[in-house]
Amino acid sequence: MKKFIMAIDQGTTGSRSIIVNKEGHIIANAYSEFEQIYPKPGWVEHNPEVIWDTAYRVVKQAIKKAGIVPDDILSIGITNQRETIVVWEKETLKPIYNAIVWQCRRSANICDKLKEQGLAPLFQKKTGLVLDAYFSGTKVKWLLDKIPGTRKRAKAGEIAFGTIDSWLIAKLTKGNVHVTDYTNASRTLMFNIHEKKWDPELLKILKIPHEILPRVAPSASVVGQTDPSILGSAIPIAGIAGDQQAALFGQGCFHEGQAKNTYGTGCFLLFNMGNHKAHSQNGLILTIACDKNGKPCYALEGSVFIAGAIIQWLRDGLGIIKDAPESQQLAEGIADTQGVYMVPAFAGLGAPHWDMYARGAILGLTRATKKEHIVRAALEGIAYQVKDLVKAFEASTGKKFTELRVDGGACKNDFLMQFQADILGHPVDRSQYIESTGMGAAFLAGIATEFWSPGGEIADLRRSQRIFSPKITPQKRKKLYEGWIDAVDRIKSTRSV
Ligand code: ADP
Repeated sequence: MKKFIMAIDQGTTGSRSIIVNKEGHIIANAYSEFEQIYPKPGWVEHNPEVIWDTAYRVVKQAIKKAGIVPDDILSIGITNQRETIVVWEKETLKPIYNAIVWQCRRSANICDKLKEQGLAPLFQKKTGLVLDAYFSGTKVKWLLDKIPGTRKRAKAGEIAFGTIDSWLIAKLTKGNVHVTDYTNASRTLMFNIHEKKWDPELLKILKIPHEILPRVAPSASVVGQTDPSILGSAIPIAGIAGDQQAALFGQGCFHEGQAKNTYGTGCFLLFNMGNHKAHSQNGLILTIACDKNGKPCYALEGSVFIAGAIIQWLRDGLGIIKDAPESQQLAEGIADTQGVYMVPAFAGLGAPHWDMYARGAILGLTRATKKEHIVRAALEGIAYQVKDLVKAFEASTGKKFTELRVDGGACKNDFLMQFQADILGHPVDRSQYIESTGMGAAFLAGIATEFWSPGGEIADLRRSQRIFSPKITPQKRKKLYEGWIDAVDRIKSTRSV
């Protein structure tokens, strides 16, 4: 009997593979980093062959570490860095260019031109996204414009476009399958999230031939099998989701109103909207996520640019902590920040403020301020930004938050989680596995291959490690938050954006 599900989590800095048993425990975990390529300021690329090599390597390592054979694996789920594009020759599976990474700004000019033509509202209405270089569509246009003959070859059906999920599946199936899922498609600026299909009007504007696009499948469905020459066995590929949507699923947020936040370098907050299509506004975007059956539903998404990165800056930039965990000890050693606030707008302010020219500041300093106060203010600054997002969600949807499920590297910080619960006034539920992303992909594949039943059984597999309940009074919460709003107001730029 096949006893395990494997997930491949192909991220921006590395590839991970986990093997999960029937009880939802990770029995093996392998990770490998790879090189970032920066050809010019603002440009970011990955070598698609290197992505594949690391993914393949961690898959083999995880199988070895688990002490199993490929035949023991019932199915594979894939989750991936979103919006990053690969274009390859169908016949040879050779990429025609490096992967253009989501962070890459090279198509900013294309976006500006489309905005000048007044097309931003059309893109937003159809895709739920803002017209920004971050998303895939203008990256694909850039590539087709740049390399002579590619558009013609695309029309002739010779080349394929895909996000990283599609690329890995093409490699795993030796070119037999060209597919993506709804969550990844919804990040491309080419996909109509209402009709749930590629949008001919947007494709025409971007001059992207339909022939280049993958088929779009539900996130929990068998889309193909690994070629036996790859792992020595034909294993069904049965789950696909972009990383943040996979994390939402791995956190058991299948139902409307449930939300998760991932505390990494930045933060990604996703709020399951069920079948409701809230208007994307206040810098939030509307995207496709997965319901309990792995079928498409909607989610609102907001991000904080600088979160765990502040802690890195305290360590490497200021040198006032020796490592990230020390930030918790220092913050817990004092009663409060004595009115010090840190607004970490190192790269401008994101949702809901949207001020690209704002810069970070530490406010409220006195002669009594010590490094502990600054460290604590930095951690509180992360939590306040998340509160800002939650307020933006509530304003956009008219719905109330009830709890927040959390994961990501910085959620290990107990002080931060307690302060988050305090300032939100809602419980913060930290999951047992920080690898919510990989778990989400495993859950999706497990549902599609009837390893687990949707809903109940899967929901039980997501376990809390600790729940932080709010401990401060509503008055104190209000006063602290007013101080934050005041601090943010002071650092907003006077430049018009
Ligand atoms: P990413 O996926 O964005 O690389 P991770 O989820 O691996 O991020 O989390 C790494 C981030 O978490 C770093 O920015 C680091 O500073 C922060 N971090 C790690 N441990 C702690 C901690 N104990 N307290 C606060 N921040 C932490």
